[in-house]
Amino acid sequence: MTRNDIDVIVVGGGVVGNCVAGFLAEAGKGVMLIDEGKGGGSTANAGSLHVQMQSRFMQLYPQNVPGMQRQLPLYPKAVRFWQALEKKLGADFEIKKNGGLMVAETEEQLAFLHTKAAQERLLGLEVDILDRADLDRMAPYLGPAVIGAEICFDEGKLNPLQCNAAIHRWLISLGVVLREGEAVKTLKREASGFRVETARGAVFRSGMLVLATAAGTAPLAGQLGIHIPARAEPLHMNITEATAPMIGHLVQHADRMITLKQFATGQIVIGGGWPADIVGDRNHPTVRLDSLIANATLARHIAPQIAPLRIIRTWAGVNTSVDGKGVLGPVSSVEGLHFAIPGDAGYTLGPLSADMVANMVLGRDPGEDMTDYTPMRFA
Ligand SMILES: Cc1cc2nc3c(=O)[nH]c(=O)nc-3n(C[C@H](O)[C@H](O)[C@H](O)COP(=O)(O)OP(=O)(O)OC[C@H]3O[C@@H](n4cnc5c(N)ncnc54)[C@H](O)[C@@H]3O)c2cc1C
Repeated sequence: MTRNDIDVIVVGGGVVGNCVAGFLAEAGKGVMLIDEGKGGGSTANAGSLHVQMQSRFMQLYPQNVPGMQRQLPLYPKAVRFWQALEKKLGADFEIKKNGGLMVAETEEQLAFLHTKAAQERLLGLEVDILDRADLDRMAPYLGPAVIGAEICFDEGKLNPLQCNAAIHRWLISLGVVLREGEAVKTLKREASGFRVETARGAVFRSGMLVLATAAGTAPLAGQLGIHIPARAEPLHMNITEATAPMIGHLVQHADRMITLKQFATGQIVIGGGWPADIVGDRNHPTVRLDSLIANATLARHIAPQIAPLRIIRTWAGVNTSVDGKGVLGPVSSVEGLHFAIPGDAGYTLGPLSADMVANMVLGRDPGEDMTDYTPMRFA
């Protein structure tokens, strides 16, 4: 493919940009994907397939709850979309849909889960409230402090390392032109399309441009006169050594920051949104000792059998926060420009969000009412 055959440039090679590039290439478009190579949420995430509303986001951003509720029906679809993608690529994403538990330790937390579950049921989710006797049967790994939980049957987990590798192989097989380790510095809309210049001084042109740049979006969008308030949210993660299978579910808490799950390798991944730092000239996400200790302490409180396991690795990654909802689709002021930023739990939503954007780029029906996700809401 020569530079003249490029129909669409996709900037940002996380799960969303990669999938947008793949879907467009499958539809016959000449696609170039440019990624800075710093890695974003897609290379750092915990592999939770989230469906129920996360208490962390409800507490942090109560103003976003109505938007979260409207977006909720997308999540079970997004999980099914991951399953279909796994099948299509003939890959093993290690997807397990064993359900997700949001646990409560007090009557107040349980009451919150009852209210949340009632709202979610109205929005079409399959959820239920479990008491301690149910949990003794279904999740005996939970510690004595847990008195009940909400179960969401569509939740689960996957292995992002497997997914990212398989999606990358798919792009290569489709002939997507990959420019990796190269940051886009300058964007201009010219009469015939976009002029895209990288930090290495390479210049590319295309009629269509997709920005799937997550936390890196604001400065690029600003050059085209668009305001997208995407912020970097550095988060902490831990993973233990492998042990015998014990935690089948995705586990979260009604009031505290925790996600727990066990990979097919037997390792237990512990996250949940504890903060990390961004440091140095290159703005690298860096782990915090206080997050490591607090996160691990809470994990063994919830599932005491974790206590003897060694944490073999910790890492930090950059999540992207906008207003809880995806920023997906075109803007009326710049012809040919599309944004592709998923909503909260963006790895879960990634491939489905990418499919919606790719369909809009192709002039096809995205399959959803996109009003809530329009980038124009920040204008
Ligand atoms: C620690 C952690 C745990 C998480 N756990 C989960 C989870 O369990 N489940 C879940 O659903 N979600 C989770 N998330 C969120 C999820 O990972 C992200 O929402 C999702 O991966 C975002 O995908 P993306 O493609 O939009 O962005 P990213 O993966 O952030 O990719 C954006 C890409 O854009 C590139 N880029 C940016 N600016 C430029 C530029 N100027 N030029 C070129 N390239 C550029 C970056 O290099 C990056 O590769 C987690 C996030 C973190 C940080």
